[in-house]
Amino acid sequence: MYYDGNTPIVLKWANLSNGKAYMKMNGDKLQSPYSNYYSTVKNAWPNASSRVQVVQASFSASTVDFITPTSDAWSDLVGYWRIGEVSGYCRAQTTDGFIVDNMESAKVSNGKISYASIYVTPHLDVCDTETYRKKTMIHEIGHALGLGHANRGPYATNVASVMNQGKTSYYTPQAHDVNDLIPKY
Ligand SMILES: [Zn+2]
Repeated sequence: MYYDGNTPIVLKWANLSNGKAYMKMNGDKLQSPYSNYYSTVKNAWPNASSRVQVVQASFSASTVDFITPTSDAWSDLVGYWRIGEVSGYCRAQTTDGFIVDNMESAKVSNGKISYASIYVTPHLDVCDTETYRKKTMIHEIGHALGLGHANRGPYATNVASVMNQGKTSYYTPQAHDVNDLIPKY
């Protein structure tokens, strides 16, 4: 959940099936080594929470796409000066046509995400281990589900969370993350 300092912003995935967030996912545009982790990453949230369902879909039919961009495209997405510090980026679109990729944009939309592109850095020296790469991919799916950073912002906490920003020792969804999904789905 994102916060604006006073109130929670109830950002959520739009497409539900039996009350669960229902994501149609594709990893065709991932490069190695990320492509090797895709099947594990795809199942991380459904394995942790009964409120999330993920199915495999073709690129043309998917609602969540994983992409390893070129270096130039990555630079355009995150800003040249941030190349050395950002490992993943979730660019979400809402049903009312907004692009959500931070708290400010989350506040102006109706809060229902219908599509997300999840980019992972082509700079493997930045995202330099298998566990950190998987964590980055799982963390970005958390953003598509409407979760913000656990360890940043007005309600920052040090509890275990895969939604902590930066290199942490939590690589899969934790109890805090699963609980954060409950008001949404
Ligand atoms: Zn993040």
